[in-house]
Amino acid sequence: MSRYAFVVQITVVGAGVIGLTTALALEEHGHTVRVVAAATGPQTTSDVAGAVWFPYRAGPPDKVAIWAGHTRGWLEQLSADPTTGIDLLIGYEITNDEGMDPPRPWWAAAIDVSRAPAPVTGSPLAWKFAAPRVEPSRFLPWLTARLRSPIEIRAVTDLDAEPGDLVINCAGLGARELAPDDLLYPLFGQIVLTAPGGVDLGVTVTDHRDPETIFYVIPRRTELVLGGISRPWPPGLPPERDADVSRRILEQAAALGIPVGETLRERVGLRPYRLEVRLERVGRVIHNYGHGGAGFTLCRGCAESVVALAELRA
Ligand SMILES: Cc1cc2nc3c(=O)[nH]c(=O)nc-3n(C[C@H](O)[C@H](O)[C@H](O)COP(=O)(O)OP(=O)(O)OC[C@H]3O[C@@H](n4cnc5c(N)ncnc54)[C@H](O)[C@@H]3O)c2cc1C
Repeated sequence: MSRYAFVVQITVVGAGVIGLTTALALEEHGHTVRVVAAATGPQTTSDVAGAVWFPYRAGPPDKVAIWAGHTRGWLEQLSADPTTGIDLLIGYEITNDEGMDPPRPWWAAAIDVSRAPAPVTGSPLAWKFAAPRVEPSRFLPWLTARLRSPIEIRAVTDLDAEPGDLVINCAGLGARELAPDDLLYPLFGQIVLTAPGGVDLGVTVTDHRDPETIFYVIPRRTELVLGGISRPWPPGLPPERDADVSRRILEQAAALGIPVGETLRERVGLRPYRLEVRLERVGRVIHNYGHGGAGFTLCRGCAESVVALAELRA
């Protein structure tokens, strides 16, 4: 039964990391939730993600720093349970910032970061921080299993026609048509998964200094995720693997002296990018989409903001 004087029946549209986390947070606050999604698990963008905590390609910076801080604490807590697929790694972001005492990066407003040499050959100083890393193929089912009702598999065409006191739009890129919203557009991403080779599975390294050749290595429990690429993609078209991108990523790993193992597979996905995450209430619809390259980094903080909006009396 709801803890509130008013009964709130809620439909959440979308079962990626944003929809599932939002649904769980609403249930934890006593609300009655049903999740409707066109696709789940491996068919979602969320399943393709790295997915390490790092605020990448998401705005606005002030809100992102807060949402990311809240999410980080939640992921750290969940990492105590191995079935979540979350582990705490040590993260390094290679930067051009000079010396040992440059201004802190904007995304580190609420977290501990320090300066340290990055653990790759020839790299300059980096920002070092604790980096929760999620394995989507474990975490998405873990979230789903915590919901009280099974997900209803169905495409939604009209948010206003969905039942409930409130409808939460967590449709990711699907919000382009559903909202509708031309400010939301796809950013292509591609990763290469390899065997661990000789890489330290406790350390993740990111280098975004050149947007044309971004590079990261994100260890999972039994494999490595290597990236990356971020380029605008024509709306409406499915993502297509680019062999040159994978070749370039593997060459960068070799040039940095990272001893990756054999290539296992490649995956592609489209980040739901918007200059600013849309998190607002319009009548009985609450929008929560446009998390770009940071859905795992922002999911719980944004879910808490949705709960606050849901509990505002209209
Ligand atoms: C290569 C790559 C690497 C990434 N690495 C990271 C990382 O390291 N860290 C990080 O934080 N983020 C990372 N991201 C970004 C992250 O994957 C996204 O921000 C996140 O997955 C967005 O989640 P979402 O739930 O909004 O969207 P999605 O996962 O796309 O889910 C959308 C859901 O809405 C449903 N839906 C859509 N339209 C409709 C409709 N009309 N009716 C019903 N259901 C609908 C879909 O079926 C799906 O269930 C990465 C992304 C890529 C591509």
